[in-house]
Amino acid sequence: MNEFELRRADSVEAAVRQVGANPDARFLAGGQSLLPTMKLGLASPSLLVDLARIPGLADIERLDAAAARATPVLQIGAMATHAVVASSHTVRACIPALSDLADRIGDPAVRERGTLGGSLANNDPAACYPAAVLALGATICTDRRAIAADDFFIGLYETALEAGELITAVEFPIPERAGWAKFAQPASRFSLVGVFACRGASGAVRVAVTGASTCVFRSHALESALGVEWSAASCRRVPIEAAGLTSDMHASADYRAQLVRVMAGRAVERAGVDAA
Ligand SMILES: Cc1cc2nc3c(=O)[nH]c(=O)nc-3n(C[C@H](O)[C@H](O)[C@H](O)COP(=O)(O)OP(=O)(O)OC[C@H]3O[C@@H](n4cnc5c(N)ncnc54)[C@H](O)[C@@H]3O)c2cc1C
Repeated sequence: MNEFELRRADSVEAAVRQVGANPDARFLAGGQSLLPTMKLGLASPSLLVDLARIPGLADIERLDAAAARATPVLQIGAMATHAVVASSHTVRACIPALSDLADRIGDPAVRERGTLGGSLANNDPAACYPAAVLALGATICTDRRAIAADDFFIGLYETALEAGELITAVEFPIPERAGWAKFAQPASRFSLVGVFACRGASGAVRVAVTGASTCVFRSHALESALGVEWSAASCRRVPIEAAGLTSDMHASADYRAQLVRVMAGRAVERAGVDAA
């Protein structure tokens, strides 16, 4: 690993200013993706700006409907760790599927350090959170704007974030029901295929798939089927095209296509009625 300077920011403004002033600088959240990348020599930032001491950046709160917001939302700060999300009573009461998802990321050490914001900014093709963010139609709030989930995930490790743009929080509309199921890659625990299925407060169905391609995506075939009949059996009848899905040493595209159908069925089975 190359030498680098570490600074601790005490506000969002200070963090953004420091990273903005140096094209080689990176934000440091839990370090669970960035530090391994640096150890492998795939990234060599000269400056890391640690976000851990910025007050309020890990807060979790339910915000009720208001003039600017049609439905209640669950707001989770970017620096909330996976362990905190998994154990939060507020998250469990609003969107239990999100607690389940966070509780099954990696191992206990990864969950103690890894954060929501870091996972989204990194946009690993097999990461779990992007599926929840996309299926729930969440909004990613940054230091300068609000980005709809549909516009956020662009491609392999690529997002709509501009250079030096900091995720501050994510707002999840509280759904009527939602479920998460993943077939974990046995060594890393990342999703070989993961599916998050949700029926929103308005009745609209959204289904997002991770691990199956170079970037998280919505399955419109599953959404249509579940819009007609919300059941695991309905998922099993949907033909999932293998073309365009990832084939690698862990699984063929055909196997992943089959997993999409099976995981979607399990996600629907696990979806309880949420406390909207
Ligand atoms: C062994 C292992 C197993 C794992 N298993 C899983 C798994 O099962 N499922 C899963 O989803 N993930 C898994 N992960 C990844 C884990 O969830 C990471 O925590 C996550 O991908 C990155 O979060 P972080 O807070 O550690 O970010 P960091 O590593 O600190 O940062 C990652 C990137 O995001 C940028 N960044 C960080 N925070 C922000 C912000 N607020 N705004 C803008 N940019 C920011 C950084 O500059 C960096 O480029 C695993 C990781 C390991 C090491």
